[in-house]
Amino acid sequence: MDYESFFEQQLALLRDEGRYRVFADLERKAGAFPAATRYVGETAHPVTVWCSNDYLGMGQHQGVRDAMHEAIDRCGAGSGGTRNISGTNHDHVLLERELADLHGKESALLFTSGYVSNWAALSTLASRLPNCAVLSDASNHASMIEGIRHSRAECRVFAHNDPEDLARKLADIAPERPKLVAFESVYSMDGDIAPIAELCDVAETYGAMTYLDEVHAVGLYGPRGGGIAEREGLMHRLTVIEGTLGKAFGVMGGYIASSAALCDFVRSFASGFIFTTALPPAIAAGARASVKHLKVSQVERLRHRDRVAKVRARLQAIGIPMLDNPSHIIPVMVRDAKKCKMISDWLLDNHGIYVQPINYPTVAKGTERLRFTPTPLHTDEDIDRLVHALSDIWSQCALARTAAAA
Ligand SMILES: *Cc1c(COP(=O)(O)O)cnc(C)c1O
Repeated sequence: MDYESFFEQQLALLRDEGRYRVFADLERKAGAFPAATRYVGETAHPVTVWCSNDYLGMGQHQGVRDAMHEAIDRCGAGSGGTRNISGTNHDHVLLERELADLHGKESALLFTSGYVSNWAALSTLASRLPNCAVLSDASNHASMIEGIRHSRAECRVFAHNDPEDLARKLADIAPERPKLVAFESVYSMDGDIAPIAELCDVAETYGAMTYLDEVHAVGLYGPRGGGIAEREGLMHRLTVIEGTLGKAFGVMGGYIASSAALCDFVRSFASGFIFTTALPPAIAAGARASVKHLKVSQVERLRHRDRVAKVRARLQAIGIPMLDNPSHIIPVMVRDAKKCKMISDWLLDNHGIYVQPINYPTVAKGTERLRFTPTPLHTDEDIDRLVHALSDIWSQCALARTAAAA
């Protein structure tokens, strides 16, 4: 077989469909976020980032940076091993305590990323609970799907955010079997929010465990940044709450929070936890500073909400079609992969506005979009520039506007 030409052909196919991914080569500037520098070959261009998951700008927060500097000078660069073999640093222990407290759980367990936490925790639980059946929301993230698949447990997909369909599927499973219901709170592409209480009611009726991915909610929602479940007073009803330290907390890493026994079980059996080097102490220290800060500070969350509302209102006024949702994510619908990529390129090249096109397989074909995530640090001026640029390209491409257009 001609391996190289196979790779080339597959890539050509992606390009033809307009869904070949091109990275923007960025240099983030601490203190200037969402401003960044974009490199094209050797030349540098200023850009405003509109699609970061550093939702609150905590990645440049002085307290977080100070904590990381301090930890590097105190502990050095790496952790030195897996958690089991000399890699557990005191900073990991302190961070896990902080996270358990954030979610009102007995324990928390750190992983190298949110992806790994979902993959490792779900695959371990579903494979080790004897004859476990997993109920998975149809819109679950790839990391959850892969974890469930790896477990080889039976998996039934229930209709997105649909407690009735979940109930039907659970009723179909022998009552004595262990069951695990896996879903998210804020879904990152549509920005819709799960009916957590109703899903917990159904799970409880059928004696199922619940596993909630709060990756797009931690730091952002709830009086202490504990997520949607905290906001709605539901944290105690979830068996496992999973989160990331890489999005609103601005650093890196993932975790689960749950009972002491469940965390200890995953710690003891999950390959994706056991056989990998622990996060550097400085990462843990930075994440802990961020979590601690957002437990008490409302400034970032309030300003974030204000910026999101402002962008939404301005785009609505000029008829840019958006998916309506109750979260901080603003999906601007283009519904065509090539146009989506073209608009994104045009915004970047002509206006220094960086927003990634979101195409298949991240979203369904025909629902291609630009996903805007305003942060507390986007200024009125940034918003003005965005609105004018979008209006311009919508007219140039004769794209449809909604009736709301003035
Ligand atoms: C990003 C994401 C993850 C993975 O988290 P990382 O820390 O980026 O690995 C998990 N779940 C959802 C829903 C996500 O969007």
